[in-house]
Amino acid sequence: MFNALVVEKDEDGKTQAAVQQVAEDRLPEGDVTVAVEYSTVNYKDGLCIGPGGGLVRSYPHVPGIDFAGTVEASDDARYSPGDKVVLTGWRVGEARWGGYAQKARVKADWLVPLPDGLSTRQSMAVGTAGFTAMLAVMALEDHGLAPGQGPVLVTGAAGGVGSVATAILARLGYEVAAVTGRPETEGYLRELGAAQIVPRDELTEVTRKPLESERWSGCVDAVAGVMLGRVLKQMTYGTSVAAVGLAGGAAIEGALITPFILRGVNLLGIDSVMQPHEERVRAWGRIARDLPMDKLEAMIQPATLADLPGLGADILKGRVKGRVVVDVN
Ligand code: NDP
Repeated sequence: MFNALVVEKDEDGKTQAAVQQVAEDRLPEGDVTVAVEYSTVNYKDGLCIGPGGGLVRSYPHVPGIDFAGTVEASDDARYSPGDKVVLTGWRVGEARWGGYAQKARVKADWLVPLPDGLSTRQSMAVGTAGFTAMLAVMALEDHGLAPGQGPVLVTGAAGGVGSVATAILARLGYEVAAVTGRPETEGYLRELGAAQIVPRDELTEVTRKPLESERWSGCVDAVAGVMLGRVLKQMTYGTSVAAVGLAGGAAIEGALITPFILRGVNLLGIDSVMQPHEERVRAWGRIARDLPMDKLEAMIQPATLADLPGLGADILKGRVKGRVVVDVN
């Protein structure tokens, strides 16, 4: 038996999440069994702990889109008992049981060996949010971003993606402009390396202007909505925005074609879920190298399995600061 956060659905379609003892023979099929040490809370987890947002396939369900731990048993030659591994994405925790448990069973193809220099706890402080932030920075670099070209904007900066993006970009020598709707997080964001704070209000009104003054040499955008529509018009010539999230809405409000055809701006889509294995290994290696671990420590909010129902609701309301690390034991 092991402990897990189990979400059940009643006849009226209402969901209820609680920590339960689960028998090991209820684990899904897979070739590697992992003794989970840590998990975390992403926006998607908030949906899956609650009514599911259309992501969960069947109930009872164990959410947790990320986990890190030690291999306990393996039918795959690439992994042996004792190996430290990390998993993000592949619809684990949505379409199948995930990391809010002391044990998980998955396909070997989905795992990434933990890179040297990163503990299981640190890898979950990174989690899908931080991994995606790294993918976004890599995509911007692959499209020509380099330090010294002007400020790089990070939207939703005090959230998970934004916090890690801010710390990585600052470490790499970029001048980071952090957009936040929570003025009280200014000290935290400056501590992570933000050089300027942009109040969210500056970017929440739709304008009909075809273009605005050129301000940003790159952008990691976790918000979309009106903000992305405005930011596109403020990008300097030939630069790129990495579109990561939709915390402010699924549409790009007020967007026009002008930034693309008059300034050669690129909009780069970032997906973490189906990312190929080689890119995952590259991104985790970059995280171990480029993310300052003292800054990562400052983002951590510790939690247990029992805290998850409350934290799930909080992240959907944009109330979580930085990264939650869940000690499942
Ligand atoms: P968080 O909730 O931790 O952060 C989101 C942040 O966005 C908030 O902290 C807040 O920042 C800002 N925000 C929230 N609501 C609004 C709003 N209405 N208008 C403007 N800003 C808002 O979530 P994550 O960082 O974990 O995820 C961010 C987004 O990225 C989510 O939409 C998530 O689904 C998506 N995502 C996508 C992935 C992919 O593979 N593409 C992977 C991971 C996440 P502040 O308080 O500083 O203003």
